Amino acid sequence: MAEILKGKPVADATKEELAKKVEALKAKNISPKLGIIRVGARPDDLFYEGGAKKTCAAVGMDCEVFEFPVDIAQGEIEKAVIEIGEKKDVHGILMFFPLPDNLDGKKIRELIPVEKDVDCLTTAGAAKIFTDDPTGFPPCTPTACMDMLHFYNIPLKGKKCTVVGRSLVVGKPLAMLLLREHATVTICHSRTENLPAVCQDADILIAAVGRAKMIKSNYVKQGQIVIDVGINADPDNPGKYCGDVDFQEAEPIVEKISPVPAGVGSVTTSVLCKQTLRACELQNGI
Ligand code: NAP
Repeated sequence: MAEILKGKPVADATKEELAKKVEALKAKNISPKLGIIRVGARPDDLFYEGGAKKTCAAVGMDCEVFEFPVDIAQGEIEKAVIEIGEKKDVHGILMFFPLPDNLDGKKIRELIPVEKDVDCLTTAGAAKIFTDDPTGFPPCTPTACMDMLHFYNIPLKGKKCTVVGRSLVVGKPLAMLLLREHATVTICHSRTENLPAVCQDADILIAAVGRAKMIKSNYVKQGQIVIDVGINADPDNPGKYCGDVDFQEAEPIVEKISPVPAGVGSVTTSVLCKQTLRACELQNGI
């Protein structure tokens, strides 16, 4: 039986620490605040927004949602993002993507000031991650993976870490964060040859593919640690969701595994608040 790496204890520990830090900042008359920019009302965005608001409330952090109609014009949303970016009382900004097709999302995301870019939406934010700039904020999901690995005391130095997925949101920045901690990183994608063998060779396997239960028993081995980032509709249980790893097949083989749901996904909003707090500190010269 593998050890199950649940996300909740990781998020709880982060929230406990954050609540103390927020209190300390408030004692100095500084109130950290997250600004959420949402265009339209997609169910996924509303779900994540609800989680973020709940986490902010739990740690005593302010959160303001800036909501815009789905038919907003390019010029208007650009102006709004600039204005929100200039607000002195907003320290971190999360904006939901993708935007409606008529909007130029790439142009709009670049308007977020890099010092407030707590989910790494801008090119300047990504550059900070790839250059190991300590003032940069990696996207929340890869940071959540790292928080999981740290919380469960999983050594990374010199270890073979394989990341399946090379997106800018998860795979690539995660590889950089693992490299920073001296892991030996392999990044796989849809053209990787002999994918099961490459995955099986890893000490730590992280799946960020977006394909339900793709990682089967022949991708894993005894003694391995598996982190599952995937969030997919579960083909076997309508209305439920599942990871990229076939948990039923992998769990009996590996040493430790994160579940879906209740794994990495439970950690992301605490990361969002942690990064907003750090942004607030940096903006106040702390
Ligand atoms: P994405 O942009 O679609 O990227 C998927 C990556 O997987 C791509 O690099 C793709 O390779 C690779 N891939 C696809 N099919 C493959 C295959 N058969 N074999 C090997 N590699 C394959 O997805 P994403 O945004 O990174 O998200 C990945 C997963 O994480 C999704 O399930 C998503 O829902 C989940 N997610 C979870 C959280 C969370 O909080 N837990 C947050 C964000 C995303 P190519 O580059 O070659 O196309």
